[in-house]
This record gives sequence, C-alpha cells and structure tokens, in this order.
Amino acid sequence: MRCPSCSAALSPYSYGEQTIDVCPECHGIWFDPTELSIVAQEMIQKERIADPEAKDAFKVRCKPIDRNEPEKMCPRCEIPTEVFNYSYDSNVFLNRCTRCRGVWADAGELERTAKYIKGNPAVNMYAESLAKDLANRYKKSLICRLLTSRILSGLVALLYLGGALFTGDSETLWRTATFLVFPLVCIWFSDAMGNYTGFIGFRSPPISQKTPGVFIALGGWLFLLSPLIVAALSSFK
Ligand SMILES: [Zn+2]
Ligand SMILES: [Zn+2]
Repeated sequence: MRCPSCSAALSPYSYGEQTIDVCPECHGIWFDPTELSIVAQEMIQKERIADPEAKDAFKVRCKPIDRNEPEKMCPRCEIPTEVFNYSYDSNVFLNRCTRCRGVWADAGELERTAKYIKGNPAVNMYAESLAKDLANRYKKSLICRLLTSRILSGLVALLYLGGALFTGDSETLWRTATFLVFPLVCIWFSDAMGNYTGFIGFRSPPISQKTPGVFIALGGWLFLLSPLIVAALSSFK
C-alpha cells in the first residue's frame, strides 16, 4: 500500500491487537474501519495523553479545511478520499475512503483525535463502551475456543484411556475407547457437524437448520464428562 500523502510504501505496525499501516516518510497512519477509535482509546488507557493536554484540545480550534490540498487516494481502493471532521465537532480533519471506510491520519492527527476523545466526556464514554464490547466479544470467543479445544478434550480422553489401562482389563479399555469416539468427534469437528443439514437416518426428520458448532461441542463435553458427572452425583447419595 502507498502513502496517500507522499506515496512511500506503508509498513504494518502492531498497536495492541490492531495492525495499522504507517508511512515511514511522513509518519501518517492508515486505519482500517474502527481501528482509529480503538487505537485512540488504547492511547488514552495507556496514559499516553496527559490530562491538561486533553482539556486544551477540546477548546482549541484548528485550521479549517484547505480546499487546495492535493487529493489523497485510498491506499486500498485507489479512489479519492473525502475530508471529514472527526466526530463532527472535533476540528480534527481526517481523510476517509467512501468505499472501504478506512481513515487516513496525517502525522500528529492520531494524537489530536485521542486528545479530543479524552477531553470530551460524552465521546469518551462512547469510545469506552466500544472498547468494552470488543473485550466481551473476545471473552466469548475464548469460551468458544475452550469448548472446541482439541488439546483439552484430547487430554481428558487420554486420562480416561490411562484409567482404563490401569485396570489392566482389555474389555474396559475397548469400551472406554468406543465411548470416547462420539464426544471427541462432536468437539473436534463441531463446526463441520453443525453445518450439516439433511437426513441423519430413515426414521428421523431431516435437519433443516445449521446448528452453531459451539452447541455441538458443548453436547460433546457433557457426553465426555457424563461418567464423571454421574459419579459425582452418586457420591452425594
Ligand atoms: Zn507518507
Ligand atoms: Zn478504500
């Protein structure tokens, strides 16, 4: 991707969980949609913006749009970007692509955006809730990842097999191995199984809707842990 200001090649740069594209020559930054507010919010949270600066930034009125400025092209779509006032009244003028909604910030404009967000409580609250939403989504996906973890379920299966081996009885070992097949298939291939629609047998009605893989994985886990659950329940009696 080429810099919209000076045509130098942009280089990717990791900021927290975002990968932004920075111009090594003019230090402008390209943000894909939503990256700008997330990076600005992270700058604020990491205390990179001092309080007095933030207060001043909200009051300062920057220079108006220079209409004679050469057009900046979107580095992704290669069409002209439009100039816009961040959050309508920040007077931080950034460039935005009307097609991919990516945003270009010249050197220093990211800091000014962050200062504006910090200095404006309403915007700040909104940006904070955005960041919280993202964190929640991340948490949810962590649960999904645990449920569909092949390593975790594989370890549990190995524990069962180990226990069966310990009894020294080949019949128990064989039964344990057969028992493990169904839950492991559910957990390991939950997405593929959830996506399956159609007939599962002669008598049963066809499956007409996709099942979220995570439910299948959850079912697999319940089945996998059922001997332990039964054992735990019977020990209460
Ligand atoms: Zn540049
Ligand atoms: Zn674009």
